[in-house]
Amino acid sequence: MSDQDWDIETDLLVAGAGPAGMTAALVASMEGLDAVICEKAGQVGGTGATSAGTLWIPGNSQNRDAGFDDSAEEAATYLDQLIGEDRLSEHRRVYLRDGPGVIDYLEEKTDVKFLPCGMHPDYRNNLAGAGLAGRAIIPENFDGRLLGRDFDRVRPPIPEFMLMGGMMVGKADIINLLGRYKSFRAFRHSASIVLRYLADRIRYRRGTRLVMGNALVARLYYSLKKRNVPVLFESPIDEFVCDGGTVVGAVLNTPTGVKRVRAHNGVVLATGGFAHNPKFRKAFMPDPTPPYSMAPSTNTGDGMTLAESLGAGIDTSGQGAGLWSPVSVTKRSDGSDGLYPHLAMDRAKPGLIAVNAAGRRFVNEAVSYHDFVEAMYRSHETVDTIPAWLICEAAFVTKYGLGAIHPETRNLQKHVADGYITVADSLEALASKIGVDTDGLRNSVNRHNEFALTGTDEDFGKGDLELNRFNGDPAHSPNPCLRPIENGPFVAMAVWPAEIGCSVGLSTDPDGRVLDVEDRPVPGLFACGNDMGSLMSGSYPGPGTTLGPAVVFGWRVAMHAVGKSV
Ligand SMILES: Cc1cc2nc3c(=O)[nH]c(=O)nc-3n(C[C@H](O)[C@H](O)[C@H](O)COP(=O)(O)OP(=O)(O)OC[C@H]3O[C@@H](n4cnc5c(N)ncnc54)[C@H](O)[C@@H]3O)c2cc1C
Repeated sequence: MSDQDWDIETDLLVAGAGPAGMTAALVASMEGLDAVICEKAGQVGGTGATSAGTLWIPGNSQNRDAGFDDSAEEAATYLDQLIGEDRLSEHRRVYLRDGPGVIDYLEEKTDVKFLPCGMHPDYRNNLAGAGLAGRAIIPENFDGRLLGRDFDRVRPPIPEFMLMGGMMVGKADIINLLGRYKSFRAFRHSASIVLRYLADRIRYRRGTRLVMGNALVARLYYSLKKRNVPVLFESPIDEFVCDGGTVVGAVLNTPTGVKRVRAHNGVVLATGGFAHNPKFRKAFMPDPTPPYSMAPSTNTGDGMTLAESLGAGIDTSGQGAGLWSPVSVTKRSDGSDGLYPHLAMDRAKPGLIAVNAAGRRFVNEAVSYHDFVEAMYRSHETVDTIPAWLICEAAFVTKYGLGAIHPETRNLQKHVADGYITVADSLEALASKIGVDTDGLRNSVNRHNEFALTGTDEDFGKGDLELNRFNGDPAHSPNPCLRPIENGPFVAMAVWPAEIGCSVGLSTDPDGRVLDVEDRPVPGLFACGNDMGSLMSGSYPGPGTTLGPAVVFGWRVAMHAVGKSV
């Protein structure tokens, strides 16, 4: 192509404005390159906008400064136990090496700021090197008003994660809200966030006090805007432009027509993975293919499809294709279906079990969301476990909440009428309503109740892992995760497998350069985020397993494109 064939000239073209793509563009800009982001949706954020926003960065300085001891070496031991040596070992090595420095870099040079999580156990703390505290960080809350009119350009969280139709709450807010009549501090905090929200709603469609993943993507976007890095909305990357095998640019479908973009230092694919691509779902995900995905509808595997057309390889060497969560299907106020991911709020609490169609427990209910779904699939090999059923008393729902039903909900009728839960006065009636074996459920509950009295779950070890107890009820003893289920009415909720992120993705080298099927770099082409095969090889070591790598490899890709690869 001659020069005049280009509509836009830049150094780095980044496809996708999720956490990975925005980090890559921001770092490229900080390092002196011109960067342009093209985004398929009308808003930035992707899945990241709806996420909890936690990053797993072993040895980070934010936790160290807060007095928590951790090291990348310990984390390496843990990953060796969990994953072992495989073709992504070098990716993990550079990830652990660079992670803390990348976070410090962003904190120093941009508005992307983080807080230490302190206690936040790794998901398999029975393995050597696992951390209990100090490994996870979260973004600092962000004031969406700083974005002015562009606040609307930030994808909102899922409605199920907001209160009063638009107020975001993080874990600390939830604790304060639930304890608002127990301490003045909690009352003051609760009152302040509610008043702020009510004031926001005079001018904005939702609350502007952004937390978790929404704060992360808003901070990235704010930093990009400050550096005048353009985001071209509703402009999906559609085709590469190559010169003798090197990617030199791309064609975008924009609202004002097709635009050809020349990218002197390369094109970065950060389109969020293949979540809504039926072909890839069927090819890579377990059978039966998970019916639901937490990703936005725009994540249709465009990056992988385009790269494949250039001969890129897809890395299927890991242990699985998805990073999973059980989800329940909600009915939203507009009548549409939504998904609630059962990450940490309910499964570990005392007085809940999960059963399959035989009414039998199949898992320690308090394991990580990823491990829970893997157990669903294992159980499904012999007994129908898709969906699985969460079983508890109605009193449990009022106390702890269940899925999208908030704690303190006393009247469950609306949720019964919506089909979100099933309620019955006896376990037998509940079992027959949901089509689960009656004797099986009765026996499982009886056995579980015996364990609840002794505090030891002899079958599945609910409450054994630090993670279990972290998400349990510390006020309940002897085991914060076990309490008898004995008084009706009883409640059942169906949960299904879904992914919160794809783990199979493009084959890359540790600089994020896309590799062809013979492991040779495709010149000019990079991938990061979920377009890149997960360096955790399908396992889920701890909180922040995808956003940590998305940000660190966003940085590495940019550094390589700048010519500063390390
Ligand atoms: C409820 C929930 C909680 C989560 N919590 C965490 C957590 O705490 N920690 C963690 O590590 N992970 C978490 N995750 C997972 C995490 O959010 C994702 O793995 C992460 O956002 C992936 O980042 P990404 O940038 O690769 O993709 P995304 O965030 O999905 O962004 C991809 C972007 O690319 C755009 N796009 C798609 N196709 C094109 C195209 N052709 N051209 C241009 N743009 C395109 C999309 O519209 C989207 O905006 C969570 C996920 C969910 C759903």
